Amino acid sequence: TAPARDRLRIAIQKSGRLADPARSLLASCGLSWRESRDRLFCFGETLPVDLLLVRDDDIPGLIADGVCDLGVVGRNVLTETGLARGASGGAPVFREWRSLGFGQCRLAVAVPDSWQWTGAEQLSGKRIATSYPGLLRQWLEAQGVDAEIVLLSGSVEIAPRLGQADAICDLVSSGATLAANQLKPVETILESEAVLAGPIAEFDPVRAGLAELLMRRLEGALRVRK
Ligand code: ATP
Ligand code: ZN
Repeated sequence: TAPARDRLRIAIQKSGRLADPARSLLASCGLSWRESRDRLFCFGETLPVDLLLVRDDDIPGLIADGVCDLGVVGRNVLTETGLARGASGGAPVFREWRSLGFGQCRLAVAVPDSWQWTGAEQLSGKRIATSYPGLLRQWLEAQGVDAEIVLLSGSVEIAPRLGQADAICDLVSSGATLAANQLKPVETILESEAVLAGPIAEFDPVRAGLAELLMRRLEGALRVRK
């Protein structure tokens, strides 16, 4: 367990789709920061709430390890990481505290335009490329479909053209990337958006108080935005 801290530390994406909206949402809760020279750490000035700027994929693990108390991350990443930890025998340690209303996208199965889609059973015996093996496996099992999962860390949408896979399971927002690769979305596996992630276990009283204050301000800020 991490040593007791009297400040709250929130992990957000350093750069990417969630970086600016996460920061401006937290700023609208009345937080402000002094940035370190390497731009990895932001020291909270108005409240003892600091930011750690990291890759989004690292956020669930940082919470699990107690390095950070809270994080702003896509539900897709949080859920996938939870499934992976569960598959390797780990007990659940983090959960979604609250959805944040930005970063909307969906994790979808997409197939070549030329396929006449009739349903999930069409994927039986096929190879599906994805960076989300846990979520895809869970969905395939629920559908009772036996397919091969091809794990790719990026450029999933070109896998069918390269002959690496027959179909893909990837994040979609507008669908333009899929269309450019002659693919069409046919099944939604997860509706995602940015969420505030936090531990399942309770904080010590000091951080619990800070987290409660932050949650109250977040409610207010999100209500005004709607
Ligand atoms: P990092 O360098 O932090 O690992 P990344 O390339 O994994 O960045 P981004 O592309 O910035 O991450 O996406 C971050 C999150 O934004 C995704 O995990 C997802 O929750 C959300 N998102 C919203 N729309 C899309 C989209 N069209 N494609 C991908 N992610 C999207
Ligand atoms: Zn990432």
